[in-house]
Amino acid sequence: MPPRSGVIMATHFPAGHPMAEHDFRRTALNASHTLIECRTLSAGLYQVTGQGGGVQTGDTLICTIKGSSDLPLPLEVAKVRYLINPPGQWTATAKGPDLRGQSVLGWSVQCDECARDQPFEFLAYDKDDLQERTSKASRRITELGWQPRGDNHLCPKCARLVAAIS
Ligand SMILES: [Zn+2]
Repeated sequence: MPPRSGVIMATHFPAGHPMAEHDFRRTALNASHTLIECRTLSAGLYQVTGQGGGVQTGDTLICTIKGSSDLPLPLEVAKVRYLINPPGQWTATAKGPDLRGQSVLGWSVQCDECARDQPFEFLAYDKDDLQERTSKASRRITELGWQPRGDNHLCPKCARLVAAIS
């Protein structure tokens, strides 16, 4: 990717431009690009400021949902503007999920086998009842590699061990 300079309004891109995915989550260790700010402009519309990464229109930016430490927020770049100063800094308008009425909840799960405790986060509507929250929590820990066993759960490590011996 050639270095960019000047102010570029990239509202169009040539056909065949490969859509790139840029992971800006705090848990992602990538020093080549940095997220400076991600703020909500309106429902489902975000403004992202970052540094580096060669971000272009149509790319996907994986940010972190506000109020969470690692919940991914995938955003599609609608427009990106590069700044002359500081060099490499850009501001993008991006489309994403409408998070109104939803909150990040922090729960924890304990392994039925080794008793390891893991805190985790998930997104739920404020109007969700306990049953809906519980099913969203279950979905999230499944994404994290936990497996159900009866009413309880096994951590990814124990789930692998149990699978190996049975
Ligand atoms: Zn375990």
